[in-house]
Amino acid sequence: MSLFASRIAAMGTENAFRVGEDIAKVSARGVDVVRLNIGEPDVDSAPHINEAACAQIRAGNSHYTDPQGILSLRQAICDHINRTRGLTVTPDRVIVTTGGKPPIGFTLQAYVNPGDEVIYPSPGFPIYESWITYAGATPKPLHLREETGFNFTPDDLKQLITPKTKVIFLCSPSNPTGGVLSKEELAGIATVIRENAPPNVRVYADEIYEHCVFDGEQHHSIAVEPGMADKTIIASGHSKGFAMTGWRLGYAVLPTAQEAAVFKQITINTVSCVPPFIQEAGRVALESDESSPYIDKMVNAFQERRDWVVSALNDIPGVRCQNPKGAFYVFPNVAGMCEQLGIVETYNALPEERKAHTSPSSMLQMFLLYKHGVATMDRNSFGKVGVKNEHFLRLSIATSMERLKEGVSRIRTASADRDGFQAFLREEKMYA
Ligand code: PMP
Repeated sequence: MSLFASRIAAMGTENAFRVGEDIAKVSARGVDVVRLNIGEPDVDSAPHINEAACAQIRAGNSHYTDPQGILSLRQAICDHINRTRGLTVTPDRVIVTTGGKPPIGFTLQAYVNPGDEVIYPSPGFPIYESWITYAGATPKPLHLREETGFNFTPDDLKQLITPKTKVIFLCSPSNPTGGVLSKEELAGIATVIRENAPPNVRVYADEIYEHCVFDGEQHHSIAVEPGMADKTIIASGHSKGFAMTGWRLGYAVLPTAQEAAVFKQITINTVSCVPPFIQEAGRVALESDESSPYIDKMVNAFQERRDWVVSALNDIPGVRCQNPKGAFYVFPNVAGMCEQLGIVETYNALPEERKAHTSPSSMLQMFLLYKHGVATMDRNSFGKVGVKNEHFLRLSIATSMERLKEGVSRIRTASADRDGFQAFLREEKMYA
C-alpha cells in the first residue's frame, strides 16, 4: 500500500514559492540574486494598519471569531464592493479567508464533481489548474492571445463551453500577464456565458489586483453585467492592494447566502477563522482615509517601472514584451532568446521522459538563475495543460528600480551567452 493517497499526485503547486530552494542554493555560493520571481509588493503594510493590529492584540482580542468573518469586516467589504462596483451585496454573502488563495479551493470543493469541466485562463494563476486536477475535474485552458495584450475573444470562450461547464475562472488584472479586461470585453464575455453556459455555472472573478491598474484606467467587474450578479463569485483580498501578503487576509462575495454558508462550513473544517486582530486591521485598511494615498504611491511606482522595463526588455535581442495594463508583472516572449542560446535545440534533443518535466523557458529560467543570478518564472509555472512551444518568462516589477535595472542588465548579458548556457548544462547536470 502506498504511503500517499493517489489524489495528491494530481495536485500542482506555485513555483514562485518552490524556486526559493534554487535561489537559496545559488545564494549559498555567494551570488547576489536579483529576485524577480515572487509576486508581492516591495513595500511593507502601512503604519496605520500595523498599529490597528497591535492595538487589538494589546486589548486582548485573541479569541476565535465567527468562522465567516467578523460582521464589521464583512460590512466594510460590502461597502467597498458596492462603492467600487455599484453592486448591493450584503454581509451574509461574504466569507473572510486566510488570503486570496482559499476561495479557489473552496470553489472546487463546493461546486465541482469529478468529470465536470472548469475553464481557466492559461497562462494564469497556477492554483486554478492545481485545484481543478486535484478535484478530478477536466481542465479546459482558455489560451490567452499575446498579440492582443493577452486577452481573449468571447468566441474563444464560447468554443470551450459545454453542458458540463461548472466553473469559469477569470482574472483581471491578470497574474502573470498584466492584461486587464475592459468593460466592453467583459460585456461580450458575459453575453457568451449567459447564452451558452449551463444555468448554474459559476464565474470566479479573481479581482485581487483590483487596485493595480495603470494609465488612469478603472478596474471593472463582470458581476455588474446583466444577469451576472447571481452567477459570479467576486474574490479579492488585502495581499496585493494593501501590501499585506504575509497577513493572510482575503475574501469572497458569493451569489447567495446559502453558498456563503457552504464556504463557512469549509472554513470550520479547516482553519476555524481568520485571527481577530488581522480582521480588525483589514477593516481599518478598507475604511481608513490613510489607505488610498499609500496605494496610489505604490501603484504609481509600479507604473513607472513598467514604463521603463517594457522598453528595456524590447531592446534585448530575442525578447518581445507587451505593455501590461495592470498588476505588477511583465510577461515577455523569449522564444528568440531560447533559439539564439541553443536552448530549443538542446530541449529537442532530450529524451521524451526528460522533456515531459521541463520546457525551453524553464531551462532559460534556470540558466538565468544559476549562471546570471536573476530569478524569474517560466511559462509552465502558469498552467501546463495544452501548452506547447510557448516561450515566456514572468518578471515581477514589485522590486526597486535599481534592482530591476540590475536584473534586466543581467538578462541582456545572458541573451548573448551561448557558451555560458553550454557551461551551465555541464556544471549543473539538471538535464543529464
Ligand atoms: N489570485 C491571484 C491571481 C494571485 O496572483 C494570488 C497571489 N499571487 C492569489 C490569488 C492569492 O493571494 P494570497 O497571497 O492572498 O493568497
